Amino acid sequence: MSDYKIGTRCVQGGYTPGNGEPRQIPIVQSTTFRYATSEDMGKLFDLEASGYFYTRLQNPTNDYVAAKITEMEGGTAGMLTSSGQAANFFALFNICESGDHIVASSSIYGGTFNLISVTMAKMGIAATFVSPDASEEELNAAFQENTKVVFGETIANPALTVLDIEKFAKVAHAHGVPLIVDNTFPTPVNCRPFEWGADIVTHSTTKYMDGHGAAVGGAIIDSGRFDWMAHAEKYPGLCTPDESYHGITYAEKFGKEGAFITKCTSQLMRDLGSIQAPQNAYLLNLGLESLHVRMPKHVENGQAVAEFLYNHPKVAYVNYPGLPTDKYYELAQKYMPNGGCGVVSFGLKGGREAASVFMRELKLGAIETHVADARTCCLNPATSTHRQMNDEQLREAGVPAELIRISLGIEDKEDLIADIANALDAIE
Ligand SMILES: *Cc1c(COP(=O)(O)O)cnc(C)c1O
Repeated sequence: MSDYKIGTRCVQGGYTPGNGEPRQIPIVQSTTFRYATSEDMGKLFDLEASGYFYTRLQNPTNDYVAAKITEMEGGTAGMLTSSGQAANFFALFNICESGDHIVASSSIYGGTFNLISVTMAKMGIAATFVSPDASEEELNAAFQENTKVVFGETIANPALTVLDIEKFAKVAHAHGVPLIVDNTFPTPVNCRPFEWGADIVTHSTTKYMDGHGAAVGGAIIDSGRFDWMAHAEKYPGLCTPDESYHGITYAEKFGKEGAFITKCTSQLMRDLGSIQAPQNAYLLNLGLESLHVRMPKHVENGQAVAEFLYNHPKVAYVNYPGLPTDKYYELAQKYMPNGGCGVVSFGLKGGREAASVFMRELKLGAIETHVADARTCCLNPATSTHRQMNDEQLREAGVPAELIRISLGIEDKEDLIADIANALDAIE
């Protein structure tokens, strides 16, 4: 399937039915799986054979969908998780333990920032945050003896900064560690980070991949290229025997292509749960079947609305990497020549009051914390999620009072622009 173009992989990847088998992926609604002999099941527990025994670790429906996303990204192995948060936590925790250190872009999703800076810090894993615009020298300076991974987002939610994947990968590899990229916003339809040197990709499939606001989920995909054994002293979890699996050494037994995901499934899923429900994996797959049709429409609407806002007298500024005036335009052209995503952020000259009026008057754009949905949605952090902060605190947090994030859906752009124009007209 990897020889096919991206749209074909979206539609037919991951699952090829045999003669007389269901055309659509079956939902395997079963917690457990039957075996004829204890020895047969024992082989699974020894990781001598691959198969299913309990849905907390693996389920066939999930594996069809994970295989599809793996083909879309051009990776060698993948898995689904219950949420994007679980995907990022598992991807990091699979190679970091107490006493280790992470270098992360500061321009990342708020949930991931909290995960790394608060929750993982409590587990004894430290982090240094770097600007997404950092030079190679500045990046180098962030590394420590115990650094195990570099993390960033292709297009950051909500700041809409674009990661220089090649630069981050080069510096990570010079220090003998992998680069993990959260590719939620562009999706593999618009950017495939493995083609630029990233080693592992994560997703909140809750966003464009599902695309219909139906199911929370996540995914982790491995490029199969990072040579763990070449840096064995850094990754004892992959390169020394796992006593909880009868002394298996993942990097030896499953190679570069399979070690990361096998360990993540057989250790972290086993011990921490966080599997995606097979029903949700089925819904996610329906979304994936049209992802390559929807993404160009999100981009078209994002571009049209960004241009409209840019030229509007009541708008102070617009952030959208598809605008030639945007700070990230050149990087976006390099990594996402077909466009990035449909999320635009902008500031109103009238500040908090103007934002409040604008939000109230929008008819098609619904007020939601969600983004990347078929339906247009909109958020003014100052008057909703961040309303406990004053204007100065908001500015320091990078979400000034006048900032509005709008996620353009796949409706007709003329209607969306008319709706936005009407809401802007209502501002005094
Ligand atoms: C939403 C989001 C997440 C978290 O995903 P959930 O599915 O909500 O847990 C992680 N990264 C990015 C870029 C996101 O937009």
